[in-house]
Amino acid sequence: HAKRSGRNQFSFFTEDMRLRAMDRLRIETALRSVLSRRELRLHYQPIMDLQTERVMGVEALLRWNSPELGEVPPTRFIPIAEEMGIIEDITCWVLREACSMNQRMLQQGIGNLPVSVNLSDIHFRSRALVDAVAQTLKETGMEPQYLDLEVTESLLMSNLDSAIDLLGELSDLGVTVSLDDFGTGYSSLTYLQRLPLDRLKVDRSFMQNLVADQRGQAVTRAVIALGHSLGLMVVAEGVEEKTQHDWLRKLNCDGVQGFLMARPLQEDRLLEFLKAHPILE
Ligand code: C2E
Ligand code: MG
Ligand code: MG
Ligand code: MG
Repeated sequence: HAKRSGRNQFSFFTEDMRLRAMDRLRIETALRSVLSRRELRLHYQPIMDLQTERVMGVEALLRWNSPELGEVPPTRFIPIAEEMGIIEDITCWVLREACSMNQRMLQQGIGNLPVSVNLSDIHFRSRALVDAVAQTLKETGMEPQYLDLEVTESLLMSNLDSAIDLLGELSDLGVTVSLDDFGTGYSSLTYLQRLPLDRLKVDRSFMQNLVADQRGQAVTRAVIALGHSLGLMVVAEGVEEKTQHDWLRKLNCDGVQGFLMARPLQEDRLLEFLKAHPILE
């Protein structure tokens, strides 16, 4: 394609744009019935405690297998679901499913497994979220301290005062809150101290320079120390190599999540994983 002349390149790009728009329209159409046709499911990625190598929790990650489109990644369909105004319904489904999974693990004698759910920026701005969380906890019987909600910096910074209020209300319910993808947003460090958070998740972009590069180590060390000095647990995301894992242990990180330990797993595979790696209790 790079060899095309300027004129052909132009028509190539418009064709590409047309295809992308069509793709989007097909996703939008298929998304309308995603809940009624029960096409969503959750995978769970273990989060390991670095001291004990036990499972300290799992992150619920949304998967959509569409009969028309095949597997559509969450990074592709969630922004569209947000624009369509159906992200609230999807998040409620995720919350219910994640809490039910926690109850199933408990009933099967595996233990009380903390589960993290990702919140969309848009849903977070609505008051209905607090009610939805409260209702899900009540209906599933899940103990609140085992539900963790992951929020992003962009979400918090867009309206700091209302974010503080909402985080406070969520904390009052007894759930925990994690700041996801930490280090990729624009958060000012003075804001961070005002937010009632429980956990920092260091973005996986930090992992790249952790091993070879002394400066990379210095930055990650500082981020972990910052989290600890604010009284937060620190979990590193995207750990793919043993050397990264070992560095994070040296740097006093609390938890690790990544392909090295486990990929996101469907529930029966998670059960197998939990037989080999007990839960931290
Ligand atoms: P996230 O919350 O930061 O989730 C972590 C992502 O990193 C997941 O991608 C996971 O599969 C991937 N990952 C985990 N370990 C590794 C690793 O070692 N290396 C690499 N390269 N990647 C790793 P996934 O499942 O495709 O999800 C992407 C994003 O979609 C999530 O990022 C989150 O922002 C969003 N998402 C997923 N599920 C939900 C959901 O239920 N609701 C909302 N609102 N967003 C969701
Ligand atoms: Mg997350
Ligand atoms: Mg993340
Ligand atoms: Mg991330």
